[in-house]
Amino acid sequence: MTSISSPIDSAKLARGLLDAAFDAFVLLRADGTIAEWNERAVEIFGWSREEALGRNLAALLLPEKHGAVLSRDLQRYPLGRLGEIPGQRRELSALRRSGEEFPIELKMAAIEEGEEPLFVCSLRDISARKAAQQELRETEQQFSTLVQSISNYAICMLDPEGRVTTWNSGAERIMGFCAEEIIGQHFSSLYTEDDRKGDVPMRVLRQAQRDGKFAAEGWRVRKDGSRFPADTVIDPIRDHAGTLIGFAKVTRDLSAEREAQQALEETRQKLAQIQKMEAIGQLTGGVAHDFNNLLTVVIGNLGMAQKASAEGDFARVRRALGSATRGARRAATLTQRLLAFSRQQPLDPKPLDLNRLLASNVDFLQRSLGEMVAVEAVGGGGLWKVEIDRGEFEAALLNLALNARDAMAGGGALTIETSNTFLDEMYARANPEVTPGQYVLVGVTDDGVGMTKEVLERAFEPFFSTKPARQGTGLGLSQVYGFIKQSGGHIRIYSEPGEGTTVKIYLPRYVGADEKSDEAQENHATAGAAAAETILLVEDDEDVRAYLVEICRDLGYRVLSAPGSSAALRILEESDARIDLLLSDVVLPGGNGRDLAARAQELRPDLKVLFMTGYSRNAIIHQGRLDAGRAMIQKPMTQRELADRLRSLLDAEPPRRKR
Ligand code: ADP
Ligand code: MG
Repeated sequence: MTSISSPIDSAKLARGLLDAAFDAFVLLRADGTIAEWNERAVEIFGWSREEALGRNLAALLLPEKHGAVLSRDLQRYPLGRLGEIPGQRRELSALRRSGEEFPIELKMAAIEEGEEPLFVCSLRDISARKAAQQELRETEQQFSTLVQSISNYAICMLDPEGRVTTWNSGAERIMGFCAEEIIGQHFSSLYTEDDRKGDVPMRVLRQAQRDGKFAAEGWRVRKDGSRFPADTVIDPIRDHAGTLIGFAKVTRDLSAEREAQQALEETRQKLAQIQKMEAIGQLTGGVAHDFNNLLTVVIGNLGMAQKASAEGDFARVRRALGSATRGARRAATLTQRLLAFSRQQPLDPKPLDLNRLLASNVDFLQRSLGEMVAVEAVGGGGLWKVEIDRGEFEAALLNLALNARDAMAGGGALTIETSNTFLDEMYARANPEVTPGQYVLVGVTDDGVGMTKEVLERAFEPFFSTKPARQGTGLGLSQVYGFIKQSGGHIRIYSEPGEGTTVKIYLPRYVGADEKSDEAQENHATAGAAAAETILLVEDDEDVRAYLVEICRDLGYRVLSAPGSSAALRILEESDARIDLLLSDVVLPGGNGRDLAARAQELRPDLKVLFMTGYSRNAIIHQGRLDAGRAMIQKPMTQRELADRLRSLLDAEPPRRKR
């Protein structure tokens, strides 16, 4: 390309360039007077070219403080040096014609013209830029105030190496460090020792850097060393060019949330329990109906017996009494099972070796199940003891065995195994009702039809049964469940249709000095009284009292009886007779049995006590258990049961008493 064809007037060119410029250009003489003034200068400052030319720039445009400096600098500037004037590129404020002061950027260069230097000043209006900066500063300030005031979240910034650069009030509240203590420190000090050893903090940063974000829950450590569950989010921060300049870390303390969750879970459990009790309440109607039927059987047969005896037909009397007894027994069983499910039945737990108990039950189970089922017991070695109610446990075992038999219509094998086991925290977390620890496991396995998921889910429900009306009550597993729970244990069924069933019972290990265990009593035959042993019977129900007096006398005991506490105490105080044992109901008119027993043993320190109850009462039973060391027998009882209990108590050491 050719250059511009005709030579251009350089003065015109200069004029054009000046007027096209974005900045104000002013040519100054050494004395500071204005020699040139472009269009932009007119726009910015408000003075026309004519008005500006010849005026002193400092006087015209600058506030006094800047003006003096500029004039001095110009005068001092040595002749013969050209180019940008060092130190003359700066920000200062200038005045518009209107008097408004505003920020400008000034840049100067010296050019030579004859004897004097001339100065080219470029003046840029930077008020818009300044305003934007100010706005940004304010926004940042507001943002930082906002972040600082957030107290539910620990918010901090980290440099690329992980050192803390900012620290908000939430961080101080949650972590315990104040800003002065932590800024400049590496953020790994907020992690647990183990995490630090595993290089977790730096790995987390690298991950955030790589993925653009990191979020996880974990344990963090406060200044005082305590740990808390936390939820952490880390974002990498980059500048315009994409270079990593640090990380933003937001941490939330989850402890309150976890506690709330736990409280919720507890409430849920309580609610479930309440619902269960309510269900029992609703079932009571049905039970009452069953009960009425049984009462009809009992009462009807007794009436029949009375009539038959009047007629002297003793064969009929016996038959009627037999039917009445069977009806009454069934009623008693029903009550037992309901009580078991409602966890209200009084238990009499004793330390037990389940292997020995199993060994003594295998024959009985085998007989109960018949020849089609092979019963095998496999006792684990070194088995720990458990502390449970023996009778209830045997009943539970029988219930499980009967279910197994029903599931193996064509015959099969029933295996009962025991072993020591440990339920760990993990298991407890999955099963909130379980306390982690040592347990004795009793597994009852059959190779029968198994259960579908639907049956499995409902199997423990009282009155849930898949069996025909006359075969199933639906109370077997609920008895087992209630009893195991009440004994501090845990139960779980594993079953698949066609694959058989294993019921696993976990009973807490018993540790402690062995109390006198039940075992010694096993060899006792049903035996009556030794020479003229005397029992003081206290029972408010007249019929029951008469019945008990009868069976005790039948066993050869001498019996004194009283309908309540005060009558009993009068006998104890006034009678010279030797009294060996107090057989007392727990609930009595005019005071409970425990108070009576205490007073009685004050009067007669060697007196032995056996309580009777049909129901649990907090006075003597705490959470379904007897007060430690209290002998108890449950009503209704057979003569044989009573005989055994009386004999074993009377043959035992005299009660140890505090002096
Ligand atoms: P019932 O035996 O009177 O039906 P349970 O409470 O003992 O009541 O059992 C409830 C239900 O659980 C049974 O009807 C049966 O469907 C199921 N079940 C219990 N044990 C077993 C088992 N070992 N194999 C298969 N199903 C079982
Ligand atoms: Mg059953």
